[in-house]
Amino acid sequence: MHLKPLTLSVAVLAALNTYAAQAAVADGPDTRRHQAQIDQIVKQISPQRIEGYVRKLVSFRTRHTMSDTVSETEGIGAARRWIKNELERCGAAAGGKLQVAFDSHIAPVSARISRPTEIVNVVATLPGTQDASRERMYVVSGHYDSRNTDVMDAHGDAPGADDDASGTAAVMEMACVMARYQFDATLVFMTVAAEEQGLLGAAHWAEQAKQKNLNIAGMFTNDIIGSSRDEHGKIDNKQVRLFAEGLPVQKENSDVVRTLIQTGGENDSLSRQLARSVKESGERYVSGFKVNVIQRRDRYLRGGDHMPFLERGYAALRFTEPAEDFNHQHQNIRTENGVLIGDLPQYNDYAYIAQVARVNAAALATLSLAPAAPTKVQVRTSKLQNDTELVWQANAEPDLAGYRVVWRETGAADWQGSRFVGKATEATLTLSKDNYYFGVQAVDNDGNVSPATYPVPLR
Ligand SMILES: [Zn+2]
Repeated sequence: MHLKPLTLSVAVLAALNTYAAQAAVADGPDTRRHQAQIDQIVKQISPQRIEGYVRKLVSFRTRHTMSDTVSETEGIGAARRWIKNELERCGAAAGGKLQVAFDSHIAPVSARISRPTEIVNVVATLPGTQDASRERMYVVSGHYDSRNTDVMDAHGDAPGADDDASGTAAVMEMACVMARYQFDATLVFMTVAAEEQGLLGAAHWAEQAKQKNLNIAGMFTNDIIGSSRDEHGKIDNKQVRLFAEGLPVQKENSDVVRTLIQTGGENDSLSRQLARSVKESGERYVSGFKVNVIQRRDRYLRGGDHMPFLERGYAALRFTEPAEDFNHQHQNIRTENGVLIGDLPQYNDYAYIAQVARVNAAALATLSLAPAAPTKVQVRTSKLQNDTELVWQANAEPDLAGYRVVWRETGAADWQGSRFVGKATEATLTLSKDNYYFGVQAVDNDGNVSPATYPVPLR
């Protein structure tokens, strides 16, 4: 038996001692080691370049979705042309693999769109290099549109330095740095429009993806990742919040959701499994920085570009700074009682944004180097027994080393124990399926680990 304990409780350790008599299984690859390529990427992400991107985005005066599209210096049209040029420039410098394009559609009149308006996303795709993984995609986004107090005001200054030039700049920086490297799966770096007008840009792209049946294995949006300072002036630059939905809000539950509820799997949705993976790789590569998984879709009264993906059944997460200062979001620039209000670039912490970008990049790189999460994972429930018998379908990647069964106590958020089982497609554990949550992960020869797949009952 092989065990790589993370933080095991006494109870789990006691239970695991009962394994001692079982035959030993080869260790498998070291899943805690650092991949040299990912360390390089983390090191190359630059706070200076991120600050340059944010200040350039602010210089367009407003990036409101219905603002000017003709001027070369002001409005959302100039902003998106600059983003596209910048991504093309750095993509070419990185070897020409980054494919940059506009994704455009006309939004009809709606609650926050007063006339038919062209909504344009800027999408940079880095195709995967492994045949078995290229169709699997990971999407990272920020929204480049901005707003001030009146969401319909397309003319007033709306610098949007934190909301969301910070996320846009992080995505641009990730695209430019990661385009120099190769990944098995495909990465999509997206800066989207019309978030403030109802998530329209992201929803358009997500709907196209759904229609085309694209395999989006994970998505994260970066929205308001700019400031480490709360409204009382306290600095916390050592963590980021990662919002992860459990069960989706829907009038009628799908079979997938029904099975989760029936088996107590409320904390094992696709998004929660993705969040566990992002937390593990983000914290491993960005030392001293915490990924604080919040087990909610989003903050109260708020939404973001991960939601259109969630609504279409994809795993999707939101990164946001630890404590927002509402004087510096969605506010006209003005001075009140000696306080300068507005979403201005001097309130951002560029070293902090770089840390959040590093977490994103480490997670994206790990996911896209790792095999896909195993499919058809099932737990045998046909007889009354305390052992746990798991079965799953074999993965197709040529660099697959094997599979790892992970488990945790039912009150725990993160995996507590694991066992590498090689290239088997079934495993029996002497821990009771009734008392632990299990998952199965795929591991490649370099030690890159997929997110876990939750087993459904096999009767
Ligand atoms: Zn936002």
